[in-house]
Amino acid sequence: MKNVEAAKKEGINVKDFVERNAKLFIKLCKLLNLSNTDFIRTTEERHKRVVQKIFNLLYKKNEIYKGYYEGIYCPGCEAFKTEKELVNGRCPEHPNLELKVVKEESYFFRLSKYEKKILELLKKKEFVVPEDKRKEMINRIEKEGLKDLCVSRKNVEWGIKVPFDKKYVIYVWIDALTNYISALGWPKGKFKKYWPAVHVIGKDINWFHSVIWPSILLASRIKVPKSIIVHGFINIKGRKLSKSAGLAIDPIELIEKYGTDTLRFSLLHLPFYQDSDFSEEDLVRYNIVTAMFRKTSSGKPMIKKSSIN
Ligand SMILES: [Zn+2]
Repeated sequence: MKNVEAAKKEGINVKDFVERNAKLFIKLCKLLNLSNTDFIRTTEERHKRVVQKIFNLLYKKNEIYKGYYEGIYCPGCEAFKTEKELVNGRCPEHPNLELKVVKEESYFFRLSKYEKKILELLKKKEFVVPEDKRKEMINRIEKEGLKDLCVSRKNVEWGIKVPFDKKYVIYVWIDALTNYISALGWPKGKFKKYWPAVHVIGKDINWFHSVIWPSILLASRIKVPKSIIVHGFINIKGRKLSKSAGLAIDPIELIEKYGTDTLRFSLLHLPFYQDSDFSEEDLVRYNIVTAMFRKTSSGKPMIKKSSIN
């Protein structure tokens, strides 16, 4: 829904919109001098196949059933919100977005069945790192309990269709999380070598990775991840970077201005687990440091080390 709405705003179709964005990510990896063994998109056949297979499997095992849902939906989070989560009637993560009341016949995943097992998993220290992020998940389950999860959407043009009921598309998080194993070619291929994996994620998607994803895997009789490493946000002046809130910086512009190593150094220098603040002024300072290691075309350092002291 987020992609559909963003594309509409720009007046282009969704496919072109996501294609353009995917190219930007590939470009950014190259510019940042990052290496990756694979690049997968959730529009690829190899991914769609696995998502539909998992959905089918869960339906046959009666882990997914048809029910009825009404709730408040945040298009920014792409998730239903409870009244308690809202601040002044708005999503605390996306205060600029209008929330929608969505009421529809839907498919549900029996998440409630896995409450005990997930709590057991969360007792293991290494399952979610750092400690406070692990405890956050335990506290939320103990407070709210696990309710069955709505896993389908009606009248949505973008997404992977429910294989046995084409009026519906599969909920974005089932689709997105399955990407970890579709990229590995589950149930064969690299899956056998690399699964279970370690996930490195942002704190806003901890719940989906530490609670929902392991439940889906348990229901599918697939091993749960080894560990989920949760990092903080990089903010600007204490505010969250957000595409939907229009608060963003362009890393490509920064690389053009200061160079790859300067941006890499400044990002590595920020604290990993806690939230941190990004400022371009840091880049100006680091640019001087990295200049020591850069060479001019004649092979001489750009600036003398002595001039920095
Ligand atoms: Zn939200």
